Amino acid sequence: MSTLTSVNPANEEVLGSYAPDSDAEVERKLAAAAAAVPQLAASGFAERARLMRAAADLLEAELAEVAALITAEMGKPIEQSRGEVLKSAKSMRFYADHAEGFLADSPLEDPSAVGASAAGTRFDPLGVVLAVMPWNYPIWQVIRFAAPALMAGNAGVLKHASCVPQSAIYLGELFTRAGFPEGAFGTLLIGASRVEAVIRDPRVAAVTLTGSEGAGRSIAAAAGDVLKKAVLELGGSDPFIVMPSARLEEAVETAVKARTSNNGQACINAKRFLVHSDVYDAFAAGFARRMAELTIGDPADESVQIGPLSTEQGLRDIEVLVEDARSHGATILAGGHRVGSTGWFYAPTVIADLSRDMRLWWEEAFGPVASLYRVDSLDEALELANDSDFGLGSAFWSEDEAEIARAERELEAGAVFVNGMTISYAELPFGGIKRSGYGRELSKEGIREFCNLKTVWRR
Ligand code: NDP
Repeated sequence: MSTLTSVNPANEEVLGSYAPDSDAEVERKLAAAAAAVPQLAASGFAERARLMRAAADLLEAELAEVAALITAEMGKPIEQSRGEVLKSAKSMRFYADHAEGFLADSPLEDPSAVGASAAGTRFDPLGVVLAVMPWNYPIWQVIRFAAPALMAGNAGVLKHASCVPQSAIYLGELFTRAGFPEGAFGTLLIGASRVEAVIRDPRVAAVTLTGSEGAGRSIAAAAGDVLKKAVLELGGSDPFIVMPSARLEEAVETAVKARTSNNGQACINAKRFLVHSDVYDAFAAGFARRMAELTIGDPADESVQIGPLSTEQGLRDIEVLVEDARSHGATILAGGHRVGSTGWFYAPTVIADLSRDMRLWWEEAFGPVASLYRVDSLDEALELANDSDFGLGSAFWSEDEAEIARAERELEAGAVFVNGMTISYAELPFGGIKRSGYGRELSKEGIREFCNLKTVWRR
C-alpha cells in the first residue's frame, strides 16, 4: 500500500508521509462509526448543536494553524485559506441553529383524508455516510457535508484526497475533540482503490462525492450495485455571460475573481466567458490586462493573489489543454505558460478564438485558464452556454429585466447568479445537473439528502 504524501506545491517540499490504514484499522473505524449512530440519535438536536458549536469554536480558535496547513498542503493564497476556515465554522453554526427546523415533523392538516387520526412525515438519519472528498477546499468540502450529516444524527467516515493527508487527519479528530462520540466522524486513510469495499460494507448506508467525473462514475456504479444512495458533486465549466447593458467595469473585475479564486481550481469557477460583440473588445482588453497583472508566487505571502496548482498532474493537464488550443489556432491574450521551474505555477491565462475541435471547448480547465467567446445575441449566448456536458453554476450580467428572466429560466445549470459570481452559501442549495452530478448540498435540501423521509400514519 503506497504512502499518502503531503507536498507543498509552491516548492515541492515533502511535508509529511503517512502509512495508509490497514484493513484492521478500517474495520475498527467502521465499527466505531456504526456504534456512534444510536448514540447520536439518542443525543437529540440540542445536544448535537452544542457539540457542533464547540467544534466551530475549536476550528476558529485554530484559524491561523489550519489556514497555514491548507496553504502549505494545496497552495491557495493564505487570505483565501483563512476565508475557507471561517466559512466552515459559520456553516457549522448555521446547521447548529437550523437543523431541527429543517428536519421538523410535518403533520398532515387533514389526516381523515387518508383514514387516519394523525399522519405526516418525519426525518430519520440514514446511519453511516461515506464522504469521498477532494483537495481543492480541503476543510470546507468536508465540513459542508459533515455539519448537516452530524446534525441530522448520521455518522460520517471521510476518505479525503490522497494529497491532503494532514487536513484529513485534522478533520478526523476535530469532532471528537469537540465532544462528539468516538466514531461519529472519522478519517479513513485509504487510497481511491479501497473506496468500493467501503461502499459495499453493510454498515455504510450512503455515499457522497465531490470530485471528478471519473470518480463519480466509479462511485455511482458501486453504490448502484448495492442500491445505496449517492450524492455527486462533480466538475463544471460554468458560463459567465456579459450582455451590452452590463456594468462592464464591475463585470471585468468579478470575472477575474470568478476565474482565479482558489488558483482557478474550483468546480464553480467561471470558465467560459461569453461576451456580446457590442462590448467584447472592451471586456477582452480589460480582462486580459487584469489577469496579467495578478501577483503570482508563494501563497503564504499575504500579497500573493495566485498560488501554484495543487498537484503536478494538475499543472500537466492545464499545459496540455492550452497547447491543444494553441496548436489548433486559438489566440492567447494573456499567460499561456508555466511560471518558474520549481513549484507548479501556471500564469493566469485568457484564450480567444476557440473552436469546437479544441479540447478546451468541451473540457473543464481546472486551473487559471479563461476561455473567451464572442456572441452576437442573447439566443447565441444561451445556446453556447448550454452546449456543454456540465451544468453546475452560471453567471449572467445584464441590466435588462427581460434578458435576466430568460437567463434564469433557460440556463441549464444548478444555479444562476445575476450580476455576480457563483458562490456556495450554507443558506442556499448547491449542486448540478447533467455531468456535474446529482443531489444537493447545503441549505435544508442538503441536510435532507441523507435522511429517511418517513411517512407515519395512525388509525
Ligand atoms: P478526483 O476525482 O480524482 O479526486 C477526488 C476524490 O475522489 C479523492 O478523494 C480521490 O481519491 C477520490 N477518487 C478518485 N478516483 C476514485 C475512484 N475511481 N473511486 C473512488 N474514489 C476515487 O479528482 P482529481 O484530484 O483527480 O482532480 C481532477 C479533476 O477532478 C479536476 O480536473 C476536476 O474536474 C475534478 N475535481 C472537481 C472538484 C470539485 O470541486 N467538484 C474538486 C476536485 C477535482 P485519491 O486522491 O486517493 O485519488
